[in-house]
Amino acid sequence: MRFQGCVAIITGAGSGIGRATARRLADEGARLALIDWSAEGLAETASLLPATAEALTLVLDVSDEPAVEKAVAEVLERFGQIDVLCNNAGVAGGHMDITEQDRAQWERVLGVNLIGPMLFIKHVSPHMRARRKGAIVNTASVAGIRSGAGGNAYSASKAGVINLTMTAACDLGEAGVRVNAVCPGLVETGMTKPVFDYARANDKVHKLGSRCELRRYGRPEEIAAAIAFLASDDASYITGQALPVDGGNTASLNMPGMKV
Ligand code: NAP
Repeated sequence: MRFQGCVAIITGAGSGIGRATARRLADEGARLALIDWSAEGLAETASLLPATAEALTLVLDVSDEPAVEKAVAEVLERFGQIDVLCNNAGVAGGHMDITEQDRAQWERVLGVNLIGPMLFIKHVSPHMRARRKGAIVNTASVAGIRSGAGGNAYSASKAGVINLTMTAACDLGEAGVRVNAVCPGLVETGMTKPVFDYARANDKVHKLGSRCELRRYGRPEEIAAAIAFLASDDASYITGQALPVDGGNTASLNMPGMKV
């Protein structure tokens, strides 16, 4: 019950890692503000929470600053405090050759994945600063550390999230507000459904995650557990860090043919 008495905002809470994080934080006593642009996804997540959980659901696009500002005000009006911010909403963006990059696509991906977290930090941190208390956890990706795990725009957006984590941690550290990131490897969620559908249809699902040292892909609950750790007082002396939660994927060059 590490979040008893705490209020947590979770974006992208209508699916995947955000939904698992909502369940984990609710299980540990948090009151929740669940944010997504999918009302149906939010309703499903709310239905999966413990009966005793208190959750406000807000439908908005995280890249829309007036909507973000309004949502933060609504959370404060309803709960009176914000202890935890999980910036988790994200979009993939597809794979194109470097010569075929599309400016509008980059703006869309950076708008959601990088500017969205910045907007939430901007509007939540004055409250956290005033209370001299708060923990922010951004969902980045192994794609922000190495190439090969996402398209160009997606990878650049996640590298940006890792750096935003450091710069925001420097801005907010003096006020006792911590900012960290998780960098998930491959996890089965709404975002990766096409990859899993293709692998299942072609009898290749055993290959997914096979390059990880743990030889498997991850579960949303395993990412949620790391987010909960970084958001909790168990991580009270950790800030500005980006934690890979990737079955060892980024720990190794794992060159094909080198292991016998
Ligand atoms: P997911 O199942 O698609 O969940 C993401 C949720 O965010 C969806 O409900 C999505 O709605 C919502 N969303 C997207 N853009 C939004 C916006 N502008 N405003 C509000 N809500 C928005 O995918 P996930 O895998 O759980 O993704 C969560 C985070 O983990 C993302 O930041 C992703 O980049 C990161 N991540 C995932 C993996 C992986 O393997 N799954 C690996 C590394 C990092 P729609 O579905 O309607 O778009």
